[in-house]
Amino acid sequence: MPLLEVQELRVEFPTRRGVLTALDGVSFAIEAGEVLGVVGESGAGKSLTGAAVIGLLEPPGRVAGGQILLDGRRIDGLPYEQMRRIRGREIGAIFQDPLTTLNPLYTVGQQLAETMLTHLPVNPAEARRRAIRWLEDVGIPGAAQRIDAYPHEFSGGMRQRVVIALALCAEPRLVIADEPTTALDVSIQAQIITLLKGLCREHGTAIMLITHDMGVIAETADRVAVMYAGRIAEIGPVRDVIKHARHPYTVGLMGSIPSLSARVERLAQIDGAMPRLAAIPPGCAFHPRCGHAFARCKSERPELMDAGGSSRAACWLHAADSASAMVAGAPREARPGDARPGDARPGAARQGVADDAR
Ligand code: SF4
Repeated sequence: MPLLEVQELRVEFPTRRGVLTALDGVSFAIEAGEVLGVVGESGAGKSLTGAAVIGLLEPPGRVAGGQILLDGRRIDGLPYEQMRRIRGREIGAIFQDPLTTLNPLYTVGQQLAETMLTHLPVNPAEARRRAIRWLEDVGIPGAAQRIDAYPHEFSGGMRQRVVIALALCAEPRLVIADEPTTALDVSIQAQIITLLKGLCREHGTAIMLITHDMGVIAETADRVAVMYAGRIAEIGPVRDVIKHARHPYTVGLMGSIPSLSARVERLAQIDGAMPRLAAIPPGCAFHPRCGHAFARCKSERPELMDAGGSSRAACWLHAADSASAMVAGAPREARPGDARPGDARPGAARQGVADDAR
């Protein structure tokens, strides 16, 4: 049984102009100790998925369908107090800005100890001893003295290390890490990711790593889910997806990563922008931006389907009857930056990028 199972998750926002569907049929699973990367442009639904899992959807957002199971136990729709106990003890969270997680009025030691006293069978002396050890584990120099410092007395990178300690100190089985390095200096980012991954491996903690950075995913994740317009466009083992992207959107994302080994005049780009929630196109939501769109794409929404290897992609190019469907429609002329037919299948074109990304 997977540690986390999300089945057909649907999240809606009721507004005065009607109900907006922000997540529509999102399904994935995370095994114990696994790192699942969730990637996509802003507005794809990555953070919303994490917020729904941890029960922190901002009102008026609500889970309107599907279910979220932790160890086989349904956790969506639990009363606030029950969900609060699960947060911290069973699911930890790391957000982009450590200042939103840390309370400026308490020392980091008090905040670590409080978390452990709430969730673990420890007394205050043991909680303080463990807090010092956690600060050492996340690389805070002079942890025994720094434990009595306030968040503002730490640099941004050190604060994020404290947040990692805070997320892991109650020994949760799953951590939701939402853009954990985006606010940090680029030289610190790799250290934080390496630290997070190392500690989670050591403690057998699974990670749902939400980021827009495919390089971070390549370095860290075991599998990756690519999101677009509130749905999963492609999911599979990270090496497979990076080397042989199957969905034209994934191909576009991969093509936009600069390569050190392959010199190109101009980086590929995906024309257009993520659709607004109120204007998600019918059929495949990506079709207005896709160089391979054909008639079926504009009217029928593709579900995730086997796309070769262990990957699944929500794209009609991988349907058994796609060849005849493509003949029926008229693909528009490809533009620079469009996914190319060879790119959507296993091919060598992405190899240089994939090598760099790894
Ligand atoms: Fe969507 Fe069709 Fe493009 Fe596949 S080929 S991504 S189904 S528009």
